[in-house]
Amino acid sequence: MRTRYGKRHDCSKCGKSAKFYRVKQRRSYACEHCGAQVYPTAGTPFDRTRTSLRDWFYVMFLFCTTRHGVAAKEVEQQIGVTYKTAWRMCHEIRKYMAQVDGDTPTGGQGDVVEVDETLVGGKSEGQGNFRDGEGVGPAVEDVNGLEGFGSQLKCGINGTHIHVSPQHLAKYLSEFEFRHSRRYAPHAMLEELLLAFQR
Ligand SMILES: [Zn+2]
Repeated sequence: MRTRYGKRHDCSKCGKSAKFYRVKQRRSYACEHCGAQVYPTAGTPFDRTRTSLRDWFYVMFLFCTTRHGVAAKEVEQQIGVTYKTAWRMCHEIRKYMAQVDGDTPTGGQGDVVEVDETLVGGKSEGQGNFRDGEGVGPAVEDVNGLEGFGSQLKCGINGTHIHVSPQHLAKYLSEFEFRHSRRYAPHAMLEELLLAFQR
């Protein structure tokens, strides 16, 4: 509530500057003047969920402290929800990480942009087994560069998730991209996710 609305804000119903008080048994806060209720989780991954925010934040913490991803099975065991719920939470968090990471273009005049390609699963046509970055060596060597990204992604998919269907691959990529973009400031990842809920 504090992150999205601050200590007080103008009530959308009565128009007055108001403090909002927590409503018991609900995920809402009520205007001190007219009682109009605000749901601070509306529009976030935690909207309409019975899982506690503490559990959601804990799973987000797991996502920020791993290098190879978090398996739904692990979430199921750690917070005691069904596999289906755990799976859905993981996907919601991936989508949210993608949203926070954004899609702003990298580089600019005079900047070096590293490009690489990798094949996830299967074989590429006419080449037999394809290796990471084969024939497209990066222009600038960086031990934490794109090759590192590719290998972490592979470790995550092969070791943690075992199977990732093509329709969901983009979400996993976003998750790994979020962490890769912040690899020099890993301690700030969770906070960034928790403070990015804008009104
Ligand atoms: Zn009001």
